[in-house]
Amino acid sequence: MNEMLSGLRNSGEPAVLLSRVTGFEVYPRSVQPCGQGVVFLLRRESQPVLGYWGPAEPPAGLVLSPVAARGSDLEGRLWLGETSHANAMVIRRLLPWAAPVTGGLALSAGLGDRLGVATPGHVRAIRAAGGIFPIYAQQSIREMERTQRTPDDVMDDATWGVLQEGWTQGYGADADHLKSAADIDLCAAAGFVFYTLDPREHVDPLADTDDPAVLQTKYAALPWEQLEATPEENQHRYAGLQVTLDTGLRLQIDAEQALRAACKYGRAVAHLTSLSRHLSVVMGERPYELEISVDETDTPTTTQEHYYIASELKRLGVRWISLAPRYVGRFEKGVDYIGDLAEFEREFARHVAVAQTLGPYKLSLHSGSDKFSIYPIAARHAGHLVHLKTAGTSYLEALRAVAQVEPSLFRRVLSYAVEHYDTERVSYHVSADMGQLPDWHALPDEALPALLDDFHARQALHVTFGLVLTSRSDDGYLFRDAVYSVLRNDEEAHYEALSTHFARHLIPFVQA
Ligand SMILES: [Zn+2]
Repeated sequence: MNEMLSGLRNSGEPAVLLSRVTGFEVYPRSVQPCGQGVVFLLRRESQPVLGYWGPAEPPAGLVLSPVAARGSDLEGRLWLGETSHANAMVIRRLLPWAAPVTGGLALSAGLGDRLGVATPGHVRAIRAAGGIFPIYAQQSIREMERTQRTPDDVMDDATWGVLQEGWTQGYGADADHLKSAADIDLCAAAGFVFYTLDPREHVDPLADTDDPAVLQTKYAALPWEQLEATPEENQHRYAGLQVTLDTGLRLQIDAEQALRAACKYGRAVAHLTSLSRHLSVVMGERPYELEISVDETDTPTTTQEHYYIASELKRLGVRWISLAPRYVGRFEKGVDYIGDLAEFEREFARHVAVAQTLGPYKLSLHSGSDKFSIYPIAARHAGHLVHLKTAGTSYLEALRAVAQVEPSLFRRVLSYAVEHYDTERVSYHVSADMGQLPDWHALPDEALPALLDDFHARQALHVTFGLVLTSRSDDGYLFRDAVYSVLRNDEEAHYEALSTHFARHLIPFVQA
């Protein structure tokens, strides 16, 4: 603590004193030592503003203007400025905890925030749960395009959220589902430290069922040079392999499984290796970590395939902190797990065995939100070696707040979502049926928030987020400004919805 902050504390509650001299509400936890003074965030006309109170000029780099303080006998001078990108960069340099860091093998949760105003709610959930490393900045390039945000926006919004709630215990930043070197460059420039590589376009799902002649042709045509192996060496390594995994589980890969795994994932392994090498050059000395994600494939990843991918990547020098297989069963957006829990448990335990033998690394649960029935299973088998990744569910909680605060706006959003569900659902795993929606037109306003617990309404709202946030008429955005205005004016309703919802996600893992 610096002298300015201890001086404030001697005179009372720092945020209360600063609210008095600024004339605006200062976020209580945001008052933090910085240079010779303190920085803080305040709310002016529902927008965050960066403040500095100190004995002299603010630290170099901050773009702030001196402002006359209101009558007060406090020692110090006041500066105010915007929560701009320029200021966010300086704040991350001045306050190391406001910049993202790697979390290593700690139990972790990714809290994607598509709207850029959810971090304070996420912080509250993480603080209440305890024991979880949070990734507050997380968005895929696809989602950024859909919401018209840049990697800098994603990073800056997390930074301001962390400052607003005074979260000083560290957080991560996940550049999610990256597919190319260009994606990596964009996110590295913005300061991301966690990179999720997605080789989906290089996976050959047909190899599951190709006949032997086709398989042989595909096998011969794999990029062997990039794989730094010959077809014979590969066969020798995997065909007929028998290993006892760390948990005592026996794993066998027969010749046909080895051949199919190579044809299905060989190009993906080569692509991941080249992305990973590119990333290590781009990041240089900066610390970072990697997630391998093969979750977005048509068929579940078998234990043999998981072993094959991990063992090949390891041989090629790739190091990762977490891996997302495509698990058995359905991980649909915004709703609980659909499938046989006993089968999930059996398969998950086998994935854990592979991850502990070839790592240890964490198993990542993508589309991990709302899968309440599998959390205890995952926690039981993987312990803390889990990364739970969520994104769209926070948007749904924002809409829950909208339903509470401005029912007429929610009705318009829902109506639009229902209308566009069929076209927007194509790139998502969902099965909602608009014919099975409750008759929401007849519901009174007070009953609207409960629609956020309805399977069909959740999925309709989930897949239409991009459209809802970006659709325009000649008069401007159809919903975007109105949604943001509710979330800013009634931010406590939003934060409350988020922290309640995420407590249900996090507690099963912390308790394990
Ligand atoms: Zn994913």
